[in-house]
Amino acid sequence: GGESDTTIIKPIKKSAIHRICSGQVILDLSSAIKELVENSLDAGATCIDISLKEHGVDSFKVADNGCGISPSNFQALALKHHTSKLADFCDLQSLTTFGFRGEALSSLSALGNLIIETRTKCEHVGTHLVFDHIGKVNSETRAARQVGTSVVVEKLFSTLPVRSKEFKRNIRREYGKLVSLLNAYALIAKGVRFVCTNTTGKNSKSVVLKTQGSSSLKDNIINVFGPSTFLCLESFNLSVTDNCRVEGFLSKLGNGNGRNLGDRQFFYINGRPVDMPKVSKLVNEIYRCSNSKQYPIAIMNFLVSTKACDVNVTPDKRKVFFSDEGSLVLSLREAIEKFYSPNQCSYLVNRVE
Ligand code: ADP
Ligand code: MG
Repeated sequence: GGESDTTIIKPIKKSAIHRICSGQVILDLSSAIKELVENSLDAGATCIDISLKEHGVDSFKVADNGCGISPSNFQALALKHHTSKLADFCDLQSLTTFGFRGEALSSLSALGNLIIETRTKCEHVGTHLVFDHIGKVNSETRAARQVGTSVVVEKLFSTLPVRSKEFKRNIRREYGKLVSLLNAYALIAKGVRFVCTNTTGKNSKSVVLKTQGSSSLKDNIINVFGPSTFLCLESFNLSVTDNCRVEGFLSKLGNGNGRNLGDRQFFYINGRPVDMPKVSKLVNEIYRCSNSKQYPIAIMNFLVSTKACDVNVTPDKRKVFFSDEGSLVLSLREAIEKFYSPNQCSYLVNRVE
């Protein structure tokens, strides 16, 4: 028989649950830094400085000049499901912040050593906070700093041995993914300056990304990809359905990207970077009807009512459900085909025959 007296259903230890769940929120280096960058944007920062040590393996820091964190919030800061952005389910419908689940800092505290320095405009001096692995403040000391917040994570995944090994083994790929992610935010965030540096060995520091914090998408593209890439793009602003517009840039027909897919295609919903495999496929398909040798660079921001989409599908919020996605994709196909149609001569100036 399959019955056994030794099978007892009992609760998992709290600290173990915390670590198990945290590993699902923070999957890798780029999802960790994504959470911190989003927190900085939510805090109204106009300058975000990301510094990596050994490509993030030793540590990484995200420093901002946002609103800072008030001392009354220090104890709750890294507790699971504690947030200043959402109080009840109905708030999800009108959400304008990147974060809302209150899981990022809590997860990071479980997966590595979390240290935060912060100051609001009401304090004369900042505070240096060190957290333990269950998200409690371990030590609190005074520290000089400007208004804003810096979050440091040392030894990410040191509490998950298998992930830690994978992280170090795949660091090149992780790092590439991170750069692409930072590009996505640097492109779309208006008036926010991004700097990212990586320090390896004793003192060799390289600049990964640096933007000026311009208020136009055009200037951000020039900052991130350079002026020559920008010249290969054509802007668009299309009405897709009654409730959806899409604006951005696509490669001109003869000036695509030789590289296969991926790294130069960016999709957003109301400025939130997301994955849109269906849209990516569609755009590539249409583009490659006329230019089978290349793929288009795509920067597409879908402007929809927050009521019409659900971003709470996965913890990393990269997947989004649309109401009526089928008809949206159909209308989008039409709009992009028209955009690339031979009658629209302006797009064909550099066409390769
Ligand atoms: P969420 O972003 O979903 O609220 P987080 O764990 O990322 O959850 O952050 C918890 C809370 O800590 C936020 O709601 C916010 O109040 C505060 N916070 C985190 N990072 C910053 C920051 N860079 N500047 C100001 N406040 C921050
Ligand atoms: Mg957050």
